[in-house]
Formats: sequence, C-alpha cells, structure tokens
Amino acid sequence: MTDVADSRIDALRAHAGAHRPRRLRRTPSLRDLVRETRLAPDDLVFPFFVVPGEGVRNAIPSMPGIAQVSVDALAAEARELGSLGIKAVLLFGIPSAKDALGLESFAEDGVVQQAIRVLKDASPELVVLTDVCLCEYTDHGHCGLLDAEGEVLNDETLEILGRIAVSHGEPGADVVAPSGMIDGMVGAIRSALDDAGLERVAILSYAVKYASALYGPFRDAAEGAPQFGDRRSHQMDPANAREALREAALDVEQGADALMVKPATGYLDVVAHVHERFPELPLAAYNVSGEYAMVKAAAANGWLDERAVVLELLTGIRRAGADFVVTYHAKDAARWVQGGS
Ligand SMILES: [Zn+2]
Repeated sequence: MTDVADSRIDALRAHAGAHRPRRLRRTPSLRDLVRETRLAPDDLVFPFFVVPGEGVRNAIPSMPGIAQVSVDALAAEARELGSLGIKAVLLFGIPSAKDALGLESFAEDGVVQQAIRVLKDASPELVVLTDVCLCEYTDHGHCGLLDAEGEVLNDETLEILGRIAVSHGEPGADVVAPSGMIDGMVGAIRSALDDAGLERVAILSYAVKYASALYGPFRDAAEGAPQFGDRRSHQMDPANAREALREAALDVEQGADALMVKPATGYLDVVAHVHERFPELPLAAYNVSGEYAMVKAAAANGWLDERAVVLELLTGIRRAGADFVVTYHAKDAARWVQGGS
C-alpha cells in the first residue's frame, strides 16, 4: 500500500471504532461459543403416514424419501429414530375405508390406534403424538361433518373429535394434536379425555393453521384432499397475523398444553408473535410437505446444498421461537447435527 492509501485507511478506521462484531466470528470455536440458537435431534418430530396391511411401503412421489408405511414397519422405524436421537413422532392414519362420518377415525382397531400400540411396545420412551382430524377418514375429505350444503358443521364435529382423542389416548398416545381448526376443539377434547380418565394425555393444538397452498404433497401422502371446495372456511387466511393471537388465546383458555403454527417458514413472524405472547407454553411449528418438496426438488436439480439449506431453515424456525419442529427432514437433520453425512 502506498502512503496515501495508508492514511486513507487510518481515516476510515474511526468508522469501525471500538465496535467490531467480527471479533466473535473469527474462529469456529468462537462462533460455537456465542451461538444463540441450537438445533438438536430432540427438537424434531418425525411424521408418519400409516396405512393398513402388512409389508406396505408406498413412496410418495412429491415427497422424496417419505413413504406411507404399514403398522408392522413401525417397530423398526422406532428403533431407527431412537438411534438418531429423535424422541417424538406424529401419526397420521389412512383408513381402509372412508365414509361420510369418518367412522374409522375412532375405531379401536383403526390404523392409528394399532400404530400407537406397536410404537409403545417397541419403544415405550418414544413420545407418540397423533393428529386428530376427520379429513383422512371422510369420503368427502373435509375436516368435519357436513351439512346438506356441504358446510363443515362445527359443534357436531366436536363430539367426534373427542371420541378420536379418547381412542388415541387409551392405547397410549402421549399427546393428541387436533388439526381441524374447529372452534372449541381443544375444550371439547380436554373434557372428553378427562371424562375417560385420560388426564395424562396432553393437547398440542394446531392453534394457528393457515389455508396454505403448501399442503399439496401432504394431501397425496394422506389421501385427504377435499373432494369439493376448500378449507378456507375454517383454516386461517394467510394474510392475517393478529388473528393468530386470538386463535392461540382461545386454545390456551380451553386448556391447550402446547401450541402449533403451520406452515413454518412463510409464517415466522407469526411464530415469533405467538412465542412472545404465550412464552409459558411450548410452541411447535410444522415445516410442511410443500416446504419439504421445494427443498428436495431444488437439491435434486443441484440448485441448492440440501444439508446446509435444511439446517439453516430449521434453525431459523427455532430462532423465531419454536421449541420444536415437526419436519419430514427430521431423520436427515438429526444425522447432520450429529456430524454424520
Ligand atoms: Zn383435517
């Protein structure tokens, strides 16, 4: 450098002054020391789509790496999750038969009820969460009973949601997760569980679930696409954030033990708002099928570094305020945070 340049740098030095945040980013160990948010395998929940039959493994084309599995595969799956340090699963069931009332949703030998028994036998310490909704069980694919005009009936649906929750709690589900955005669902499920002597079963409410276009691949996986209409009469408008606080407050009042925001990455402001307003309750975020499919498709094309992107997105969800994340990336992410490839 010439003398002229040196004097120029001396003049510029004053701008950085005493405050140099880069000092703490200088080495990997320093960065580890001051890291604010960590991602661990036990922050992750792995979802399963359980189907009837034996030896079934149906790959889901729009969700590479994810499959529908039959109940007999779950013991091995539970061992794999255990070896990865993942401690919780969320179960969705695809019944053998669908009807207008979704009767198999609360059948004692229904596919989810069987899955709960198998998982709890194989791995008693595994936390089993179950989705509580009607859309996978009804022939019309809606989240509740319908009136003659095809509208989802609210209060009539509550009775069935209570029955589903009890039928999951009895074989050993730890947490039931109502996902239908039916008004009063948390209170109705709490009283049904308590009446059945299932006070130990916790409720994770999908308190803030948006009518999102990112659920497309899930509907292939869960075979629960509505046969007509959509879910905008009960799921939230993606444009609304303040309304999320109202939804969350109602569920807290009705006895929710934990809250969830769904989807995750497009709604991190909502995650942060709910976390700030209800810091006393654990908060989950659902990193949904469409979020998963976008990353997988880009990675398959060589457009993104899958490992780096997944860990960045999941860390971002945690940083926004989610205590745990439901994600189809759970197995890969657990391997990666432990340094595996
Ligand atoms: Zn539903």
